[in-house]
Amino acid sequence: MNPAALVTGASRGIGRGIALELAQAGFDLALNYAGNREAAEQTRRDCVEAARENAKNIRAEICQADISNTTDRQRLVQFTRDTFKRLDLLVNNAGLAPTVRADILEASEESFDLLINVNLKGPYFLTQAVANWMIEQTRQGVYKGAPPKIVTVGSISAYTASTNRGDYCVSKAGLAMLTRLYAARLAEHGILVYEIRPGVIATDMTESVKEKYDKLIAEGLTPIRRWGNPGDIGKAVVAVALNYFPFSTGDVLNVDGGFHMRRL
Ligand code: NAP
Repeated sequence: MNPAALVTGASRGIGRGIALELAQAGFDLALNYAGNREAAEQTRRDCVEAARENAKNIRAEICQADISNTTDRQRLVQFTRDTFKRLDLLVNNAGLAPTVRADILEASEESFDLLINVNLKGPYFLTQAVANWMIEQTRQGVYKGAPPKIVTVGSISAYTASTNRGDYCVSKAGLAMLTRLYAARLAEHGILVYEIRPGVIATDMTESVKEKYDKLIAEGLTPIRRWGNPGDIGKAVVAVALNYFPFSTGDVLNVDGGFHMRRL
């Protein structure tokens, strides 16, 4: 039986990149999306194909759910239970950038509420629901020596102050604590919890600031002078998923071209 993973926001960008890498590693996939069904279907087909090319036979299914909504989250977990009967990996990836990059002296409460709900409250309570299910599965002996894992896609914005998107930064700083909290609480149940912290990654989210970052990267913003791509994040998730960090939990894996280093 294949291990199973639930990836939120898997229709596009980083979530799609993670799904494709997990498919090649032989994971069955519950692929969540918010509204873009066509993109989700495309990802589903591409995952099955990518697995086949890697001599793996996987099942991938899509599930629409707004992760900021309580009923939707419950439905997403129930869908995964009904479809795959098990869960080895949760990837909290879905997230939003503010629609308008507004100075914190003027930014709206509506944007703050939206970003906190989607980027922080959603993963916080989805993790709670999944963790309880994983504890149940541990007691039932489902995992047989391969510990279940929870991976959250954070951001360099957890510690980098961008005063024109304070709501986003605050949501990602909160996510960093989510990982530590659940890592501390779930270790006794054999569940490992990690944050993967991307730098600047080429997706729809960063499309509107492409020229700005092209220039910054060329000038040395990151020691590795290129944009990250969704596959870079996917490979880090697979390393975790395949149990290459068995004595680590609560850790941050920086996948940022070296952005996090202080340099002189
Ligand atoms: P993206 O290209 O805009 O894709 C966002 C994904 O999240 C889509 O699949 C979207 O589904 C889904 N989504 C949005 N709101 C949702 C909701 N309420 N419920 C469920 N799914 C929802 O963004 P991305 O760049 O791949 O970002 C993915 C994650 O990486 C985010 O958490 C982001 O903060 C983080 N990140 C990105 C970068 C970067 O440079 N791109 C850097 C650091 C961290 P639909 O297709 O249905 O809309």
